[in-house]
Amino acid sequence: MYDQSTIAFFGLVFHGLFAIVYFTLWLSNRDHVAGLGYWTINLLFHVFGRIVVLTDVSQSTQIGAVVGNLSTGIGAVLFYFGLAAFTKTTINKNFYYSFLVILAIASVWSSSFIENQYVRSIVADVAILFITSRYLVLIWKNRNANPWYRRPYMVLLLVYGVFTVTFIMRTVFDTIALYNGDLLPAFDSPQLRMSQLFALIILSIVNFCILILSNNALLKDLANDSLEKDKMMDKLKILAQRDGLTGLFNRNAVEQYLDSAIEQAKSGCPCMVTLVDIDNFKQINDTYGHECGDMVLVHLANIFSTCIRERDTVGRWGGDEFLFIHKEITPEQATVLVHRLHQAVDSYDWKSAIHTKDTKVSISSGFTTCSGAESKRKILRRADLNLYTAKENGRSQAVGS
Ligand code: GH3
Ligand code: MG
Repeated sequence: MYDQSTIAFFGLVFHGLFAIVYFTLWLSNRDHVAGLGYWTINLLFHVFGRIVVLTDVSQSTQIGAVVGNLSTGIGAVLFYFGLAAFTKTTINKNFYYSFLVILAIASVWSSSFIENQYVRSIVADVAILFITSRYLVLIWKNRNANPWYRRPYMVLLLVYGVFTVTFIMRTVFDTIALYNGDLLPAFDSPQLRMSQLFALIILSIVNFCILILSNNALLKDLANDSLEKDKMMDKLKILAQRDGLTGLFNRNAVEQYLDSAIEQAKSGCPCMVTLVDIDNFKQINDTYGHECGDMVLVHLANIFSTCIRERDTVGRWGGDEFLFIHKEITPEQATVLVHRLHQAVDSYDWKSAIHTKDTKVSISSGFTTCSGAESKRKILRRADLNLYTAKENGRSQAVGS
């Protein structure tokens, strides 16, 4: 029904279109999809092969057959290089260059010096079987390497599996024919056309699968990029909420927690606020240095974090001041908790912690109830006044209201 030229024409159109698509993909995405360059050149070799057939060279001369064999061989090896690059598999390229040289010699020898052209066909069969088996091994090894590629790999395995079985049968038939002394009927035959049509269909499916693989590689990169960005955003969000020195919440974050606590207080959930200030902190800085003062802040942050309950929040309000928000707490419980904080600071082994002879760190605090009816400013002001009273009364104490 179809002559060789028609099949070659369709081959030219399909491979030409694929070559244009691959080349366009290569231009903009070669950094994302390894192997696109090799695959594009492979298609150009196929296009060249079809042009050779269409110019009638292969049908009339044996040079055409050699050129056809070789261009298909080079294309097939380049396709393998593309697969290796895509799957990040290290291969010995020199081995495949040697394979091409052997193929060239075998093609010239079988086409020029051997009477029975079944030998030429068997040379091509063996070369195709060899390179296809390399594809199968490579794809099989990588079939589960990445979920994004599993399906196209499976289709490729299936297609190349069918292709291999067909070519094993063809090799067997060719060998039997050669053994029986049959002669290959010219360069054109119904069987040859069938096999060319079959190869065209298989190669089109393969190239389509490679397009899907390239597409999935791009999608995978996009998905990874957005995952990275999400992680980065989460990190930035955490950093934006934290005080750089102590690792506690910063003023902004703790103020937001206070807003939500006031909202909850409106619906009857009791809450308290405690403002803590280090006593004579300037003196610590002046006596032992600013770095030592920093260490005091860090140690205090650790003490506070371990003393509070799970539903409490503590943040650095600024300088040597800390703000605590105690949710779901009664004034009695808050008094106990604040005294526990004072005890923890008083009994802390400051000498070893900041490597000084006789450092005494103490805190003063002012705590107050947090009613939903009051503004944030009013609540904070009352806590501040209580703190002021604690300082006025001689420091190292807690005053609550
Ligand atoms: P008082 O008992 O009245 O609170 O006395 P004080 O010396 O602690 O006075 P105040 O609270 O006003 O002083 C706070 C000091 O904290 C002043 C500033 O030098 C110091 N300070 C603020 N931020 C830091 C910091 O990040 N590191 C260190 N080392 N010192 C800080
Ligand atoms: Mg102070």
